[in-house]
Amino acid sequence: MPDIQFRLVAVVRCSGALEAIRDELAAFMRDRAEPLLKRGAPPGCGAIIEHCSVSDDTLELEIRSDRFVRAHDALLRLKNGLSRLLARHRIGIRAIEIKSYEVSLEWDTSIKLKRLPFVRTLKHEDGRLTLVLDVDYAALERRIPDRLLKLLEDKREAASWKGKSEHWELLFESEHRQWKFDKDPTEEMVKRGWIVHAAGRGQWIYGPQPTRIFRAFEQILIEEVLRPLGYVEMIFPKFVPWAVWKRSGHAKGIYPEVYYVCTPKTRDPEYWEDVMDYYKITNEVPLDMIMERIEPVGGMCYAQCPPFWVFIQGRTIPDDILPIKVFDRSGTSHRYESGGLHGIERLDEFHRVEIVWIGTKEQVISHAEELRMRYRRIFDEILDIEWREAWVTPWFMAQEGRAGLAELKEVGTVDFEAILPYSGKWLEFQNVSINGDKYPKGFSVKLQSGKELWSGCSGVGLERWAAVLLAQKGLEPHNWSDALRRYTGDRLPGVFRFL
Ligand code: ATP
Ligand code: ZN
Ligand code: MG
Repeated sequence: MPDIQFRLVAVVRCSGALEAIRDELAAFMRDRAEPLLKRGAPPGCGAIIEHCSVSDDTLELEIRSDRFVRAHDALLRLKNGLSRLLARHRIGIRAIEIKSYEVSLEWDTSIKLKRLPFVRTLKHEDGRLTLVLDVDYAALERRIPDRLLKLLEDKREAASWKGKSEHWELLFESEHRQWKFDKDPTEEMVKRGWIVHAAGRGQWIYGPQPTRIFRAFEQILIEEVLRPLGYVEMIFPKFVPWAVWKRSGHAKGIYPEVYYVCTPKTRDPEYWEDVMDYYKITNEVPLDMIMERIEPVGGMCYAQCPPFWVFIQGRTIPDDILPIKVFDRSGTSHRYESGGLHGIERLDEFHRVEIVWIGTKEQVISHAEELRMRYRRIFDEILDIEWREAWVTPWFMAQEGRAGLAELKEVGTVDFEAILPYSGKWLEFQNVSINGDKYPKGFSVKLQSGKELWSGCSGVGLERWAAVLLAQKGLEPHNWSDALRRYTGDRLPGVFRFL
């Protein structure tokens, strides 16, 4: 059996009886259709009409094919010729119904699939996967079967990647440092009343002391990295509609981690009256009633840079303004981290400075290098921490099954990790990513010269920086470097006392 096989049965409903032109149709199928369905395929390959029958005003076709001219392509090809022939007899095509469409392909049966969109049933058997598609003619015109096969290819690649441990390669290791602390800094901050768990999951209220530390980090970043490298500040939106994630690629995979945002279907108070009444009587917020009245329109900021791209979406940029360097620190990021929540290290709501640079391929690659060197100085001389840098597979490549591409090491991510003495574990506290042409392509941004446009981004997690600093150096400023105390002051502000 060939590696992939398609079998399609379609019923063509016409506006008049076909009996009278039965012979002419048979001749068409033999003389015109046959070569049409093999066009472009190697000899002996392509699609064939296995069966063709006429009754009243309908024509039933069974098409079988290999990978070269997929059966639905064959049907689309046939349609034009057929409607021309019918038109000569003043007959039109009313509708094309897909009676059945079955695809069978070689498949590693250890990769289990439970459900697929546009698939009625799927069967794993003897190293093959057989799909009975649930498609109409419009779906064939939209190339749904081709996309389905692409999805299967992606799943196959993702599975081959999953077996191996995640790609991680040490690039750089700092010197060992003297640790001044061996406790969990979150617990210590709670004890001292610096932070209080907020009402939401994975969410904290930061008192004056950690807030002073976060602001010091931002100031260090500005003075040591952003200003010298010519960055300017912008304000990126923090609600992200689907349209943005469709372009950034996130729509392919972030669903389990999104904080969803919904709008009311209407703001007519009457529409909401029974919800209000229910609450007033029970003091319970009626989730079921609310669910029926709202619509998910997107999610809260997840990766921070995607909504920025709308600023230049569809535009052409003159080469002489490159490289573009902007950053945002205007709001929170939100991720549903589920069971992974831990202290201020893994949160559902966190604070991050996002740094974005855009340029030619050479500019973007060399700027990432400059950025890394600037960061190193901060960690060495100001935070005075022990850390390492590692090359990892970028999220979008792993998600899109393009992990192989990362081996080139031009597009990809450098994670900065630091050891937490209290647990002995390493924690990623920021990253530097070169995203290739992914964002310019996704948001249709072009360069005047026609050269390829690239971009990179770097996310500096303030809670993660704090988790790392405090875990290694403790909560007493006198144990920190002079350089750091220049930004934080010698004493952190305290305001609250409780009885
Ligand atoms: P992890 O592997 O720890 O989940 P990630 O790979 O999901 O991190 P990125 O998507 O690379 O993280 O996000 C960039 C930066 O944002 C991280 O380096 C970190 O500083 C911060 N960050 C991401 N997720 C969280 C979180 N749940 N809590 C706090 N900071 C976070
Ligand atoms: Zn980004
Ligand atoms: Mg994560």
